[in-house]
Amino acid sequence: ERGASDSKTMRIKLVLLGDSGVGKSCIVLRFVRGQFDPSSKVTVGASFLSQTIALQDSTTVKFEIWDTAGQERYASLAPLYYRGAGAAVVVYDITSPESFQKAQYWVKELQKFGSPDIVMALVGNKSDLHASRKVTVEEAQEYADSNGMFFIETSAKTADNINQLFEEIGKRLPRPAT
Ligand code: GDP
Ligand code: MG
Repeated sequence: ERGASDSKTMRIKLVLLGDSGVGKSCIVLRFVRGQFDPSSKVTVGASFLSQTIALQDSTTVKFEIWDTAGQERYASLAPLYYRGAGAAVVVYDITSPESFQKAQYWVKELQKFGSPDIVMALVGNKSDLHASRKVTVEEAQEYADSNGMFFIETSAKTADNINQLFEEIGKRLPRPAT
């Protein structure tokens, strides 16, 4: 579902995947509203938000962001969730090896149900908690490389690398034919 309202604006469905509690909703709220709410214990229920960014090549990307409302606790998500997605952000928590394992499960689901040309990002969130790090940059980078994804560590709390994440996705999107 990739359309353009003018020749240089791309509309992209972006889905978030990852274990419950890794910070998916906080990443979205940081990106879209510039906010972080430390009191939100579980998902903040942001199920659909959009944000437009301008890239350096004067392309404009409108992200239509699908966040789960907690369905990731179940084994799988509805095919509708993946359908038409041009980009996917798979999130784990750098302090949780279990969430890194779960991220690999979601990558396999994407490879099965996502479109073949989807742009995939592997995101190690909560980089502000580096003192409790359990997943190394090296192992995550290696996994991302072998699965055709790009890798970045973010903090929704401090905003570190949040805009860079979405800019990097924008850069990697296939440009519409003109
Ligand atoms: P989701 O279930 O993946 O959507 O996770 P949430 O966005 O609801 O966040 C789960 C918990 O992690 C909340 O208590 C957030 O405050 C916390 N959290 C999210 N991102 C960060 C981060 O970058 N750093 C820290 N320290 N905590 C975070
Ligand atoms: Mg959530």
